[in-house]
Amino acid sequence: MQSMDHENHGVDLIVVGAGLAGLFTAAIAARSGRKVVVLERSKQAGGRAATQVDQGIHFNLGPHAIYGRGEAFGLLAELDVRISGSFPPGAGAMLTDRDRRYRLPRTFPSMIASRFLTFRDRFRLLRLFGGLTRIEADSLDRVSLDDWLKRVVGEGNANRLVRTLCRVATYVDDSERLSAGAAIRQLQLAIAGNVLYLDGGWQSLVDGLREGLASRGVELRTDCRVRSLRDQGQFVSVELVTGETMQGQVAVLAVDPRSVVELLELPHDSPLSAWNRRRIPVKAACLDVALSRLPRPSCLVAFGLEPSLYYSVHSASARLAPPPIAVLHVMKYLNSDAQNTPGEVEAELEQYLESLQPGWRDLVVQRRFLPGLTVTHGLPCAVDGGVSGRPGVDAAGTGRILLAGDWVGPAGMLADACAASARESARRVTAVLSEPRIPSLRSVAHATAR
Ligand SMILES: Cc1cc2nc3c(=O)[nH]c(=O)nc-3n(C[C@H](O)[C@H](O)[C@H](O)COP(=O)(O)OP(=O)(O)OC[C@H]3O[C@@H](n4cnc5c(N)ncnc54)[C@H](O)[C@@H]3O)c2cc1C
Repeated sequence: MQSMDHENHGVDLIVVGAGLAGLFTAAIAARSGRKVVVLERSKQAGGRAATQVDQGIHFNLGPHAIYGRGEAFGLLAELDVRISGSFPPGAGAMLTDRDRRYRLPRTFPSMIASRFLTFRDRFRLLRLFGGLTRIEADSLDRVSLDDWLKRVVGEGNANRLVRTLCRVATYVDDSERLSAGAAIRQLQLAIAGNVLYLDGGWQSLVDGLREGLASRGVELRTDCRVRSLRDQGQFVSVELVTGETMQGQVAVLAVDPRSVVELLELPHDSPLSAWNRRRIPVKAACLDVALSRLPRPSCLVAFGLEPSLYYSVHSASARLAPPPIAVLHVMKYLNSDAQNTPGEVEAELEQYLESLQPGWRDLVVQRRFLPGLTVTHGLPCAVDGGVSGRPGVDAAGTGRILLAGDWVGPAGMLADACAASARESARRVTAVLSEPRIPSLRSVAHATAR
């Protein structure tokens, strides 16, 4: 086995995976002067936050919006990553229920006037939303969204409306399993700071983080797949699929849970292997479309109560294509218990778009269908205590190999979980690096390379 060039022996931190979680971790560590290397198996950084750009048209991997008061937004500001974008258009947003359509009641007056709601529903919703920001979500981590909704809004259309809003905020179409605490926190976040669609798509986050890393001398190696990692006591050794090896004092694995289990060769009965086997991934099917113009320019946002569909024109709020081209996303939230044939789901999404933008097929500039994207690797289930039941950053069971990602740690969901776990991992990295080193890493690295 060949050893990697000596310059890379003795880096402080090796980050595996250059999705948001890996880039965040590397950026925090580099800011405090650490020598960091990031290894990414794909040809480019970004993971699920990457944006495809073709002829000036930007497609995120399905609809992506960042929470204005979320952990990711805050961390980006701390790291001086500048982003621009706007809130999605609220006025005119629709609810669809099979063939029926309603205005989404977004304000108290519109709730009172809504045809969709009975008098009792309206009263229950006003009471719920009036006190939503004061709900202690932590106390509901072990309660399912279904049970909580039945208790607070009964079983009518108020229930269906809140369930739909929770689905939009979490991407989870499984209210029987979803923790009410996790869902409520997402709703509270949305109410506190809305979400932003980003100019240039989420690639703007990735590029901003990458530029920050480059300016601090962090090496980002793409096309560089890691085969295994070992905690050697005083350092971590990393083997690439090419056979090269490298050492660092600490490593952060910012990859999917199955890869963590494989890279570390964790035993079948380890807690993380067990969690990996029972986790439920949250999936979605997405139709990403660019149209030369919108047949109905005022129809910009719709949420499906039944079936569980989403539609939004992201270019109405963010620069994603040269005007007048419109970029929109149509999505089906996939329930893990349902049978979803890609062909049928694609036809369902096309039909939904036809109902909202009749004649869209004649105006297609670009389109792609992505049948089974993983939105997040672990549904925060009530039986596990919601997000507090996810594996911690130290779940690999070795002090020198830490974890980060949207499935790691007890805080946040989606990109906010990436940011929160990256922050915690980077804090632990600093703690490990502050411990006295005996013998010195460099001498150990050289001894093992010989
Ligand atoms: C359709 C869709 C919509 C979404 N919408 C939103 C939204 O609106 N708001 C929000 O906050 N979040 C959203 N998300 C979630 C968000 O995109 C993810 O939470 C986030 O991008 C995950 O980042 P990550 O770094 O944890 O994982 P990833 O992006 O998956 O990164 C992991 C990286 O590790 C690399 N890797 C894996 N194995 C190896 C190896 N052996 N060696 C080297 N590299 C390796 C992979 O190539 C990948 O680049 C959405 C996701 C999807 C799919």
